[in-house]
Amino acid sequence: MKLTDTNYYSQEANESYLSASGVKAFRDCEAAYMATIQGLCEPKEQTTAMLVGSYVDCRLLEPAKYPAFREEHRDAIHKRGGFKRADFERADQMVDAVKRQEYVMKLLEGESQAILTGDIQGVPFKSKLDVLNRDTMTLVDLKTTADVNSKTWSAKHSRKVGFIDAWDYWTQMYIYLDLCGRNDIEIKSCYIVAVDKKSPPAVRVYDMSDTVSLKDAQRRLQTTIQRFANVKDGATPSRCGDCEYCRETELIDAPMTYTANGWNW
Ligand SMILES: [Zn+2]
Repeated sequence: MKLTDTNYYSQEANESYLSASGVKAFRDCEAAYMATIQGLCEPKEQTTAMLVGSYVDCRLLEPAKYPAFREEHRDAIHKRGGFKRADFERADQMVDAVKRQEYVMKLLEGESQAILTGDIQGVPFKSKLDVLNRDTMTLVDLKTTADVNSKTWSAKHSRKVGFIDAWDYWTQMYIYLDLCGRNDIEIKSCYIVAVDKKSPPAVRVYDMSDTVSLKDAQRRLQTTIQRFANVKDGATPSRCGDCEYCRETELIDAPMTYTANGWNW
């Protein structure tokens, strides 16, 4: 299957290729992820936070596509009177905050939303790179987040972590770098440009070339890919027991012991 802008997010593409977000979804709940890529359950609806992310991406990286984007999401972006909803008024401030930074705007120059594919451990992967600059060999991912400095509890780490660890952007960056390498693109620098939703928004550029974190991401990814391959070969996907899919399809046949799941008080 050849990936294009129009079929990149299709069910067929998701069934044929694993991706950074697919790895995250598979780790969250194997059963729900497998059901989604097999077309057995509806993909999760796009949340406002996700749409704000796409809106900021579109306005900063592909402004020529913005009129079409706005038309497609008119009701989500605009109130009936024509004014923008508060989330998108804020999104405009985020866009302006980034545009004010000449250094950052320079980093965002290059090929936008470049699609790359390749096999990692025999499993086909797809990726869409926010910015790929083939002159400077720089890779940039643009992120929106509530607060660049806030920390949230992570059951996996057993401590509070910042947004890059909370969303495991190291794994995403590792996958991007690996796929670049497989396509003979030798990346020299990779960054996350983050803009948050505070007023006024904070803009940050994070260097993501830390080899220790990337090595750790690689190790964890190897385990996940192996598990994914086993499930594809017929192993029963595990259920998280808590997501929409699990709640909808769970059939109880025994009582369970009560624990406050994932929390250490
Ligand atoms: Zn689940």
